[in-house]
Amino acid sequence: MSDFPILKQRGQHEVFCGLTAILWLHRKMQDAFFLVVGSRTCAHLLQSAAGVMIFAEPRFGTIILEESDLAGMADMHAELDREIERLLSRRSDIKRLFLVGSCPSEVIKLDLDVAAKRLTKKFNNSIQVANFSGSGIETTFTQGEDACLETVIRDLPTDDTQQLVVLGTMPDAVEDQMKTLLSDLGVGPVKILPTADQRATFGVGAGTRFACVQPFLGAAHDAMVQRGATHISAPFPFGANGTTDWLWAIAQTYGVARDHFDRVIAAPLARAHKAVAHAKSVLQGKTVFFFPDSQLELPLARFLSQECGMILTEVGTPYLHGTLLRPELEAIGPIASISEGQDVDLQLDRHSDINPDLTVCGLGLANPLEAQGKSTKWSIELVFSPVHFYEQAGDLAALFARPLIRKGLLTKEAAE
Ligand code: SF4
Repeated sequence: MSDFPILKQRGQHEVFCGLTAILWLHRKMQDAFFLVVGSRTCAHLLQSAAGVMIFAEPRFGTIILEESDLAGMADMHAELDREIERLLSRRSDIKRLFLVGSCPSEVIKLDLDVAAKRLTKKFNNSIQVANFSGSGIETTFTQGEDACLETVIRDLPTDDTQQLVVLGTMPDAVEDQMKTLLSDLGVGPVKILPTADQRATFGVGAGTRFACVQPFLGAAHDAMVQRGATHISAPFPFGANGTTDWLWAIAQTYGVARDHFDRVIAAPLARAHKAVAHAKSVLQGKTVFFFPDSQLELPLARFLSQECGMILTEVGTPYLHGTLLRPELEAIGPIASISEGQDVDLQLDRHSDINPDLTVCGLGLANPLEAQGKSTKWSIELVFSPVHFYEQAGDLAALFARPLIRKGLLTKEAAE
């Protein structure tokens, strides 16, 4: 990517850890249980972020490493087996079990891969046990999904059938809209990862073409390529343009004629343009600054600039996967300053000099910036909200318009 100047920063960074992804993964994977092997901090993070009621039967939990475990005085593997047997004996709904590594389990080098293999054998393959890391050492919160899908892909059977696989978690209603569009275009069969149900598991191989709906799936992308699948490179389906480009990239590999394609997308595309126009009147001409947090930054910046008329100042991203993000870099063009990684103090200085109208950032920075009178948008909200494809384009633009509208109202109120 030498033709795209990128400021690389390797200093202190302000991000959430990958355990956060369990909050949306457990909703999607209805027969899976996510067992974090971590500390009380990990348990608190999950419990407070998910707002779990104590009498509910959640599909995630934490095995807490005590001091004796950290000191190597207890046999962690024996304890793990005992706790898992206890869990499975009272939860027959669990068909897939993910052992999720954390900072403490990684620091004591607890090998959860060995544990997952041992337990799969022990349960005679009746429960699929896999592992991935949700640790916050050097990762961001969306990487939890990437690591989960990477491990799922590694364990899929081999199948060379022609098929399209779409990678990335979306709400069911959005997934259905995508399936309808692809089906109307004549593209199929379509499989989606993650699957809601283990019984829907399928194989991958040389006949598989795949596309990602999330830009943070770098490791999952690499795992698919290693399994012999072919990646369909495209901008991500955010906004009307992103959705059209994403669908067209797929349609082309299936030999769909442009006039048929245009007919299929005409009505939803028109609806998307109309819905975005509403928020555009607020966003047009305003400056926006992205702190690195979700890895959605580049596609969202492209959407805000191309479709909402916003002026990009700095677009920070925690990590830039060259293959996945190249179409976004090409679409954004040379107008934005792009940074990868973070040195938060230096970035705050740049932010202060620019003084943008809108700042997109993580929760840790949003409150202090709001206290300084800046308008902010929490980037985590964009991962939890339905924002993909045509029908959500208006809502996506509205998410960015809302803080500016609120600020306008408060300023007006203060002046009266
Ligand atoms: S995984 Fe690490 S960063 Fe995340 S809650 Fe646990 S200790 Fe904290």
